[in-house]
Amino acid sequence: MTAIWWIRRDLRLHDNRTLQAALDHGTVIPLFIFDPYFERVPARRRGFLTNNLKSLDAGLKERGSRLIVRSGTPVEVLRQMLAESGADAIFSEEDYTPFARRRDQVVQSGLPLNLVQGQTVHHPLAVMKSDGTPYTVYTPYSKIWKGLLPDLLDEISAPEAISTPAELRSEPLPEFPGSAHFPAGEAEAQRRLDAFIESTIFAYGESRNRMDLDGTSALSPYLHFGVLGLRLAVNHARRAIEAAEDKSARKSAETWLNELIWREFYIQILYHFPQVRGSSFRPQYDQIRWQNDPTEFEAWTQGRTGYPVVDAGMRQLLETGWMHNRARMITASFLVKDLLIDWRWGERWFMQNLLDADLAANNGGWQWTAGTGTDAAPYFRIFNPILQSKKFDPDGGYIREWVPELAHLDASEIHAPWEKGIQVPGYPDPIIDHSFARERTLAAYKAVKI
Ligand code: FAD
Repeated sequence: MTAIWWIRRDLRLHDNRTLQAALDHGTVIPLFIFDPYFERVPARRRGFLTNNLKSLDAGLKERGSRLIVRSGTPVEVLRQMLAESGADAIFSEEDYTPFARRRDQVVQSGLPLNLVQGQTVHHPLAVMKSDGTPYTVYTPYSKIWKGLLPDLLDEISAPEAISTPAELRSEPLPEFPGSAHFPAGEAEAQRRLDAFIESTIFAYGESRNRMDLDGTSALSPYLHFGVLGLRLAVNHARRAIEAAEDKSARKSAETWLNELIWREFYIQILYHFPQVRGSSFRPQYDQIRWQNDPTEFEAWTQGRTGYPVVDAGMRQLLETGWMHNRARMITASFLVKDLLIDWRWGERWFMQNLLDADLAANNGGWQWTAGTGTDAAPYFRIFNPILQSKKFDPDGGYIREWVPELAHLDASEIHAPWEKGIQVPGYPDPIIDHSFARERTLAAYKAVKI
């Protein structure tokens, strides 16, 4: 018997239950389909995906197999591949975005597609309230999520050999430059996970907020594309919780596990409430009268607002395709609550520029910041970008790294140079006065609050 392993967002050989299901069926055809939508994916993300496919292909070759690449509409390519190869089953990891669910329904209506759970630890339908409705608040969701865990999630090792029919044609993979910040491949993802568990997780509670430190795992692009299996990450977090030597270390490891649960929380929000894509979870906030000034938006995207910490975050994004979580919160808050620009503009910009761009997490993060979402920050909580900067980049190291024209300023000047009467040639004046912006935003939100 022959099975197609239709690879989408599970670009890995370790800890892959979909691959295992295909192997249990018989000979395996590892297939990746470049569907027409791929052309619209921003180049940097296309590059990360393609380079990870190359790395997967190398791992397959070591095991006597290889990646088969085809272009076209999934249903047509799969139908053709079934006919060509004589395969009688297709196995894919279940993907919960509205786009993926629609695509898979079309395929399933005519072809033998089996969806295997692996993108999350628990299926979005598995963590529900006792009355059968979904959770919209994180804390009770996370308690039930943890309660449903077995002692240890089973881990599947990478197979030693994969038998694949020899005669199938494959298209070449397109060429893209690799990323110096996020090199492709399972080995790199595993190396990052090991390094994080070895040296960072027990201080994560504190270090995760410091933009000037490498205090987080920087695994998000690998988790998004399934280069790293989530069950593996969760097992590592739980083992670290067990191994922690004191209360604070244990709390730190628990905090990291909680972040992995936030990821699943937003996945299930998007699954149950697909309308959050495009509209506020709390509909009254869709009535806010945004300023939506295109020039101010452009300045924000380019890291030229005159607020050093905001500009540092936006330039880190432009340069690397990634931004520290605290900087995401600060820059998002600045766009929505200082510039009074619709959160959907910022959401779109992040989707275009992040390597880890993830509809569920990104939408969740933006709606949380804007105060329009589930379990969101209250609308009247408005980040002060200068205080945030002083607290979470105390010496200004993060600003110096990403806004080099301010590198000569000391820690007392760098967060708000204008307050010390300093003007730096080529660096803009603050685009807006924060106190004025704060009052304007409170009024705009109050006007629609029920
Ligand atoms: P760590 O701190 O090491 O956390 C481990 C993993 O947990 C992350 O890799 C990620 O998969 C998950 N995670 C952590 N925090 C969150 C969170 N708040 N929500 C959901 N999952 C989380 N994350 C994305 O993966 N893709 C996005 O498109 C995205 N957009 C965001 C937009 C905004 C406005 C905000 C405020 C947050 C966004 N996040 C997004 C969440 C978070 O910023 C990133 O997951 C995190 O910065 C990734 O860095 P890390 O891998 O070092 O995370």
